[in-house]
Amino acid sequence: MITKKLGVIAVMCGGTLTHDHDCDIQMEGVFTDSRKLISGRLFVPLVGENFDGHAFAAAALEGGACGVLWQRDRGLPPEGPVIVVEDTLAALQALAKAYLADVGCRVVGITGSNGKTTTKDMVYALLETSFKVHKTGGNFNNHIGLPLTILEMPADTEIVVLEMGMSGRHEIESLSAIASPEVAVITNIGEAHLLQLGSRHEIARAKLEIISGMKPGGLLVYHGDEPLIPLVLSEPETVKPEGLTTFTFGMDQDKNDDFPTGMMFHSKGIIFTSHLHPEEGLELPLLGQHNVINCLAALAVANYFGVSGDKIREGISGLQLTGMRIEQITAPSGLTLLNDAYNASPLSMKAAIDALDSLKGYHRKVAVLGDMLELGPKQLEFHAEVGEYAIDGKVDMLYTYGPLSEEAANAAQLKRPDVPVYHFTDKKELASHLIGQLHPKDIVLIKASRGMKMEEIVDALVKED
Ligand code: ATP
Ligand code: MG
Repeated sequence: MITKKLGVIAVMCGGTLTHDHDCDIQMEGVFTDSRKLISGRLFVPLVGENFDGHAFAAAALEGGACGVLWQRDRGLPPEGPVIVVEDTLAALQALAKAYLADVGCRVVGITGSNGKTTTKDMVYALLETSFKVHKTGGNFNNHIGLPLTILEMPADTEIVVLEMGMSGRHEIESLSAIASPEVAVITNIGEAHLLQLGSRHEIARAKLEIISGMKPGGLLVYHGDEPLIPLVLSEPETVKPEGLTTFTFGMDQDKNDDFPTGMMFHSKGIIFTSHLHPEEGLELPLLGQHNVINCLAALAVANYFGVSGDKIREGISGLQLTGMRIEQITAPSGLTLLNDAYNASPLSMKAAIDALDSLKGYHRKVAVLGDMLELGPKQLEFHAEVGEYAIDGKVDMLYTYGPLSEEAANAAQLKRPDVPVYHFTDKKELASHLIGQLHPKDIVLIKASRGMKMEEIVDALVKED
């Protein structure tokens, strides 16, 4: 993590120390949540719609913080080591940018509608075999999480892998300006945040902002099955670094630099070969064809950094993902659950249904699907589409939960009146009905947007089972 004297920090973040004699105080890292105070760190009070961290600055100093940042328009600062800045968030970001330059490490930025965290974890696992690598912890991918991730990075980091998330235009642009990636990855363009952005084309423009702050001569790795990405790349208003090179991955053999050439699905993962990795199969310990595609993106990054074939194999087989992303759980009775309750959008719903479909040897396949949020005016259509997709030969029973998912249930039932479909407005009732129907050799996929808290159903199935 960043460790500097306060005087240096003041210069790095464009602020002024209120007392010159505090210049030599040693600072070890930053924190923004005063409830997680760690002695010796610098407290950065942030201002939000419903909170103002400045109210906790004095307490942070009393509790052992080495100093605090203070936004000039917030009145008189507390007594103690204080660095006054115009805007604490901008100062945090400036500090992160300066620290990145100070460490001098190489930067990989990852964005996309789905699969950012997964691909970030894969890139990390591959690079970690050969370099000192730091990555975004969990899902810390926004204008606060990204600078905090950078500031936590050890000073001897060689490569940092940063997830970049957004919910509107110009957010990725500002993250790219802070991190200035050498390699940028766009996993895909889906419908997540359609509500805020209005169209998939506009979503593609927002994701392509990742290249605006890239280093000259950098590499953009993108999902080549998505025609909107090259389209936006060719638009004159798209800001591109000089000498940008591109690499594409995807299913389409005619459009991509790398694509799968063989896939064998089994209960613990997928063995696959690709155009650029034709040797004996790579063993991915994850479910779902979409994870092969994510892995192709990660392989492209590993190849760029010169990771050897043996190390690639080692990295892939040791992969560990951040929780609730299509996690396979075996309940005490033998029932298999696919917990994908982390989040959902139409694209990721279909990917998860395909993952369920690809598994063999189960008695029945059951999908428990909840609402997908923030999809805008076409939300009911998207739900109907997912219901029809699931019911058409991919699942033997469909359960839905939430007001929007009723549309999925109705559309599914209309399409296939012969397949059992159950809609519920209460998670407990859904779980107890489902438990009454289940056979230990069944497999159950559980998925919805984060706000639906579908892990409660997972817990009920594991406990009651
Ligand atoms: P967030 O925007 O919440 O940060 P994310 O982009 O980081 O999401 P992940 O957390 O990696 O995405 O995955 C979320 C879900 O998206 C997974 O549980 C999986 O179902 C699905 N998913 C992952 N990769 C893909 C992909 N390439 N295509 C479609 N769906 C995917
Ligand atoms: Mg994520």
